[in-house]
Amino acid sequence: MEDLVGGKKEVLVKSGVGRVTSFPKCRNCGAEMPLTLVDLGLSAVANSYVPIDRADAPEPRYPLHVRVCEACWLVQVDEDVPPEKIFTKDYAYFSSFSSSWLAHARAYAEMMTNRLGLGSDSLVIEIASNDGYLLKNFVAAGIPVLGIEPSGSVAAAAEKIGVPTLVEFFGADLAKRLFDEGRRPDLICSANVLAHVPDIDDFVAGVAALLTGDAVYTVEFPHLLRLIEEVQFDTIYHEHYSYLSLLAVEGIFTKHGLRVFDVEELPTHGGSLRVFACRNEASHAEGQGVAKVRTDEATAHLNSAEGYQGFSERCEAVRDGLRNFLDRARADGKLVAAYGAAAKGNTLLNYCGIGPDLVSYCVDRNPAKQDTLLPGSSIPVFDVPKLTELPPDFVLILPWNLKSEIIAQLKQMGLSNTRFVTAVPSIKVTA
Ligand SMILES: [Zn+2]
Repeated sequence: MEDLVGGKKEVLVKSGVGRVTSFPKCRNCGAEMPLTLVDLGLSAVANSYVPIDRADAPEPRYPLHVRVCEACWLVQVDEDVPPEKIFTKDYAYFSSFSSSWLAHARAYAEMMTNRLGLGSDSLVIEIASNDGYLLKNFVAAGIPVLGIEPSGSVAAAAEKIGVPTLVEFFGADLAKRLFDEGRRPDLICSANVLAHVPDIDDFVAGVAALLTGDAVYTVEFPHLLRLIEEVQFDTIYHEHYSYLSLLAVEGIFTKHGLRVFDVEELPTHGGSLRVFACRNEASHAEGQGVAKVRTDEATAHLNSAEGYQGFSERCEAVRDGLRNFLDRARADGKLVAAYGAAAKGNTLLNYCGIGPDLVSYCVDRNPAKQDTLLPGSSIPVFDVPKLTELPPDFVLILPWNLKSEIIAQLKQMGLSNTRFVTAVPSIKVTA
């Protein structure tokens, strides 16, 4: 078989007995996918922080190979890690640990309340409602809500602040049950979950089953166009089954009788889309954002193989840039720490082959991640004050999307001789 190179198609080979090797099939439409966006090799599951006492236990690694379906243009990882391996009760992501994300959620709640005229007779459902970071804003305004969240630990945190939450995975079955119970949401929202569901078709079928009349579904996801243009390969991890363009999302929505009537471009997560959808027959007029993003994607050739070519080589250049920087820092006797035990950081560290010899330790505000080792790279994680106990020369900021917030925070700690580094889309050092 031909060596895999990003954007290039593999060649079908015949085995000795004349059987043709087949390519992985698209999770959405079933077509074979010879086109590779990038193959990041074997990687540990990004949110599986390793307790210190299990440091020597073998860590499972899974292939992280992203393919492009040329029939429906859904970009996807081709090896499924079972969801129960990822979204366990220990799953450590609490939305409320990011203050800029909280502000984003509050602004969204206000905007939608005004736009749809939501009140005490309305119902807002959030799918993957996490610790209630968004729905609490509707609750405060007297608007009934229901959260749906598969992770027990974060759902319990939501209940504690008055956000009723079902601990379940969302799909067509659950949607039917809610519909039969008489639930008629005016707004369904989900931020950064559509990319996380293995069966995206079943998920959208569920949304469609719950939407009646002029009810609206808004969905936010990191925009594939930004990922490609800005080499954000570190946003690729097993938990993200799909990498979404408006093109692919509209295709799936159309199949379920939904249409996109507005799109907003957001700065979150390195550049996201917020897509507004409704039933085909609903009265919402189409906003200007829809045509704009459709045109941007067509200009970038996301509807042909050309749009996906050369990405792999650009990832390698980022890897070489970071490795060179860290090798030089070590040779100069400099201490490098990392900030933010984020999933994207784990992809970056794993793909670049970086361990505690190059990055001595990592800090994170989330107590659930402290006193663990980062999956794959085995870099120890501590609470943030470690930075003043053992001041580094450089802090590598792993969640680069929160860079300004993090630098401002760290400067308040008086780290006067520390400089800040981000690796994507290329090495950048800030004083
Ligand atoms: Zn497909």
